[in-house]
Amino acid sequence: MASLKKRLSCNTPGEFFVDRSCIDCSVCREIAPSLFGDGRESACVVKQPESEEEELLAFQALVSCPVSAIGTVSKRPPPQVFERFPILIEDDVYLCGYASKGSYGALSYFIKHAEGNWLVDSPRFSPQLVKRLWDMGGLSYILLTHEDDVGDCDRYAEEFGAKRIIHRYDSRAVPKAEILLQSFEPFPFGRDFLVIPTPGHTKGHVVLLYKEKFLFTGDHLSWSRRRNGLVAYKDYCWYSWNELKSSMEKLLDYPFEWILPGHGYRRKVSRREFEEFVRQLLSS
Ligand code: SF4
Repeated sequence: MASLKKRLSCNTPGEFFVDRSCIDCSVCREIAPSLFGDGRESACVVKQPESEEEELLAFQALVSCPVSAIGTVSKRPPPQVFERFPILIEDDVYLCGYASKGSYGALSYFIKHAEGNWLVDSPRFSPQLVKRLWDMGGLSYILLTHEDDVGDCDRYAEEFGAKRIIHRYDSRAVPKAEILLQSFEPFPFGRDFLVIPTPGHTKGHVVLLYKEKFLFTGDHLSWSRRRNGLVAYKDYCWYSWNELKSSMEKLLDYPFEWILPGHGYRRKVSRREFEEFVRQLLSS
């Protein structure tokens, strides 16, 4: 539970606050971007809720924070916000919320699909989210983009009887995965899903291209508000920076509109923006 004694000074005064236990993931700023913004290596409340809708958004961020760093001065229990999860992004793609501390607050996504629903990376296990996912048809597949963001995938797989998919080079994080991707060639699943190996951040990192529109990028590619641009993080590249650059170049072969990362911000990206980013990355 967040502590008033540890409240950060960057917060706008009022009922909601972020405390020093914040790990500067992007969850609250993704869920309620008008209320939570950047502090110095943390999030902060930049605007207090002024309407019932904004208050519900603030509570959605509060229950989704992976380290319980968001609190209220009154310490009142959160209202029933679970029916507002998962949060629609566009078409049949949703943000899960309920981030996992084990995956450092990585964002995870839900795709509602006629041939079986998908989870992309895993939130923390939450009975409230489980109920909502059952209401929306359950889960058939859980794609893990890489070994860091597996969250509570095993518990979700057991609950829904879903198949876990991960590349064999990252499979130590999910030893009971049902589907191990063996090569570095793209793997189609039905007509709408293409898993593309992108070694770099880890050796077994993959991204998921859905309907040639949504690219779930894990820790391969993200959007930074601080830099106002696309980013790949050399400091957090655990396997090979040169491989990561080659993997990024390969993505030029595929059309997409959205990037949906594990950390950072989702965003629509134009082809020209992406091409320019890759050009700069390759020349760096
Ligand atoms: S969700 Fe929690 S840990 Fe993540 S940035 Fe917000 S306050 Fe910090």
